[in-house]
Amino acid sequence: MSRVLLIEDEVGIRMTVQDRLEAEGYDIETAADGQEGYERALLGGIDLIVLDLMLPGKPGLDVCRDLRADGIPTPVLMLTAKGQLEDRVAGLRTGADDYLVKPFEMLELVARIEAMLRRDKMRGGSGTGGIYRFGNVRLDARQAAVFRDGEQLQLSAKEYQLLLYFVRHPREALTRDVLLQKVWKYRVGLSTRTVDVHVGWLRQKIEEQPRKPRWIVTRHGIGYIFDPE
Ligand code: CA
Repeated sequence: MSRVLLIEDEVGIRMTVQDRLEAEGYDIETAADGQEGYERALLGGIDLIVLDLMLPGKPGLDVCRDLRADGIPTPVLMLTAKGQLEDRVAGLRTGADDYLVKPFEMLELVARIEAMLRRDKMRGGSGTGGIYRFGNVRLDARQAAVFRDGEQLQLSAKEYQLLLYFVRHPREALTRDVLLQKVWKYRVGLSTRTVDVHVGWLRQKIEEQPRKPRWIVTRHGIGYIFDPE
């Protein structure tokens, strides 16, 4: 079953689209706010995003551009208002894959979604799969769950997001500042120490020997590097 994330602030459209897509057999998650939708998309496990352009919290164009900058390739279908040709062009430039002009027919929306998912599958799927394995650990982004020797680990939301960021950026030297920016979005009052504390907790859960980590390795003077080999 494909999972669609619908980011739309107009409650009427949200409910109509949700009902229709559920009737078509899709699994739907919704967000009424751009920032909330963006954060959900970052967690992974989404096959396609239907993204409204005008949103509170974070505009649709910013959501799309930031997702692409974060390396999230999930297909995006952008909803634009009638006549806003410039917005459509801008949407495609920020990495949206297709757009639909409001008001639209549900049949048209369903057809576009089907076509986009088919194309994505032919390319090998991007939003899908979402399974990362290293050693005896498996991260399943669809379920937002991590398993060690088949047993599910109890991770906090931030521990999970941090691990997801690591597995999506293997063998990259990641500074504490980059991790704070990408995983914590630079919340006020946070220091780089926050990163170290969370890495410590993650190691306790995923490493055989937390004091001699194999997966999340410290690079002195730089930060951390995740190596799944
Ligand atoms: Ca809107």
